[in-house]
Amino acid sequence: MEKIKAIQIVKPEELRIIEMDKPVIDGKNNVLVKVKASGMCGSDVGIYHGQNAAATYPRVIGHEIVGEVVEAGPSAKKVKPGDRVIIDQVTACGHCYACRIGRPNVCQHLAVRGVHIDGGYREYIAVPDTDCYLLPDDLRYEDAVLIEPTTIAIQACSRAQITSEDEVLIMGCGALGSRMLSVAKLSGAKIIVADVVDEKLEEALKNGASHTVNLLKENLDEKLKEYTTDAYGPTLSIDCACTKDSLGTLIRVTGNAGRVITMGFSVAPTEVTQFGITSKELDIRGSRLQNRKFQEAIDLVREGKIDLHQKISHTFHFTDAQKAFDFNDTHDPSIRKIVFTFDN
Ligand code: MN
Ligand code: ZN
Repeated sequence: MEKIKAIQIVKPEELRIIEMDKPVIDGKNNVLVKVKASGMCGSDVGIYHGQNAAATYPRVIGHEIVGEVVEAGPSAKKVKPGDRVIIDQVTACGHCYACRIGRPNVCQHLAVRGVHIDGGYREYIAVPDTDCYLLPDDLRYEDAVLIEPTTIAIQACSRAQITSEDEVLIMGCGALGSRMLSVAKLSGAKIIVADVVDEKLEEALKNGASHTVNLLKENLDEKLKEYTTDAYGPTLSIDCACTKDSLGTLIRVTGNAGRVITMGFSVAPTEVTQFGITSKELDIRGSRLQNRKFQEAIDLVREGKIDLHQKISHTFHFTDAQKAFDFNDTHDPSIRKIVFTFDN
């Protein structure tokens, strides 16, 4: 059996470059993709450090997977050898309630590539052709990994039913928050971004935020009154910080009849009151992964509405994975997005 190399998290805090059997295509996974680039996401870091309750070990992680189709079985209609693709990370049962109502991203038997089943930090992966989406020709593989976080932002805005009427608070402006800003602003809504790092807030202003709040230096409640019409507060708050207290904060600051979108996986208890939700008739909605949003994200990139160039800050060859995760742990302020490359 031919062997390939992969990055495996053996157990929390233990990373190894392993050899595994090269995947072979079959009736279900009918396309073989040579992985060209794979992004490092907060959830990958969480699995490495044992902070992702959903993950099982040992695991080849990585769910931001782009590459070139090198083999396609007879049943593959959507892609052919030579195609440049990004791979949907969600696999679902197709039969449960969530699947039947068209929400496979929260399937009862959800299996996410790189979390519950082996993902994209390896040289080859076999997947169904229907999970492959063609990349825009002018987008480098390294930049194309950002289509995945873009789909996550599209999902959150879809769950939020965002409109141009909204005055939106995006809490946190790291990799997820900045993708959220670029997608949310397409709705025409006014957007306020809060974070603790001035450089990130300056970038947010350049990228379409109308106001920013530095949570370490300014009073969030007062600033939101100042920045929203009639001191109403945000009509939509999206939690891209996902800290222990962020949900409680968003329930407090969001205006009457508003929506609060949660995206975090923290299991730390946080205090919320029924009054805080009922008195304002807030909608608290979770947004997990994405529900077949890849084509929408790719179309936005192709139309020039989303720009994914110059957003990657660091690339590492995948065999230097330990160095990359160690560097990420330094929280160097230059880090925006780390991407693994796979060509020798
Ligand atoms: Mn991701
Ligand atoms: Zn299902």
